[in-house]
Amino acid sequence: MSAEFLASLFSLHGKTAIVSGASRGIGFAIAEGLHKAGATVIGIGRSAAPAQSYAPGMAYRQCDVTDTDGFSRVCADVAGRHGSVDIYVHAAGISLTSRTEAEAIENFDKTLDVNLRAAYRCALAVTRTMRDSGGSIINVTSIGSKLGFPGNPGYVASKGGLRMLTKALALDLGSRNIRVNNLAPGYVHTAMTDKSFNDPALHQERLQHTMLKRWGKPGDVVGAAIFLASEASAYVTGQDIFVDGGWMAKGL
Ligand code: NAP
Repeated sequence: MSAEFLASLFSLHGKTAIVSGASRGIGFAIAEGLHKAGATVIGIGRSAAPAQSYAPGMAYRQCDVTDTDGFSRVCADVAGRHGSVDIYVHAAGISLTSRTEAEAIENFDKTLDVNLRAAYRCALAVTRTMRDSGGSIINVTSIGSKLGFPGNPGYVASKGGLRMLTKALALDLGSRNIRVNNLAPGYVHTAMTDKSFNDPALHQERLQHTMLKRWGKPGDVVGAAIFLASEASAYVTGQDIFVDGGWMAKGL
């Protein structure tokens, strides 16, 4: 197989991508990976500036994904400058800890707003700026999209909902050649999981659930993101790709 053939299959040259949740962690790693694969990348997050420095040529815009008008303005502006938005990655996500029932109820709604409702609204907004030839939407879900985890029902419900939203959108947008897929990481060490990563018992427990006997790193999800964004996955839509060290496939 020639290097040129491989490069053309996975190349994102000429494509423009918006990646939400790109101020740090998994979203940042995906944004950087899409950029290295040739895409023009605009990362977004609520923070005024990204926590990790962007490579020359990458751009960052402050935007809250729950602000649909603000997100639509970013899409229109990016499409105005670059001709279209070809790839959208919804990596923006929150996982909240609650101490009381009242807080849990409030956090349930907040979590659904960012992880699920915003994903739907952002998908609708971004498709208005995609070319007639199509595009790719990647929703970052979780192993919690299929499995129950304790103490954070909003997170599990939001990711389960997002997993199915992806399939519904893949069907509705298929005739426009807009592909919609789920990228579901296992436990990856980021700010979101720092507490359990640094707790020896929790760290070990999560590691034991994997087949590869290690936690994930943000860079581990990049290959799957480039695959889903590129022509290499031209006939892949409505799917779940678990990047979880084998967590979902492990029995005893
Ligand atoms: P993280 O380090 O906490 O990053 C979350 C990102 O989302 C940040 O860039 C944050 O930026 C952004 N964000 C949160 N709310 C937002 C909003 N309303 N509008 C725009 N951006 C927002 O966590 P992470 O682990 O990288 O998580 C990234 C995604 O992967 C999330 O969807 C998460 O659920 C998912 N995931 C993570 C793991 C894991 O083990 N780490 C496993 C499965 C799935 P600002 O604070 O600047 O807004």
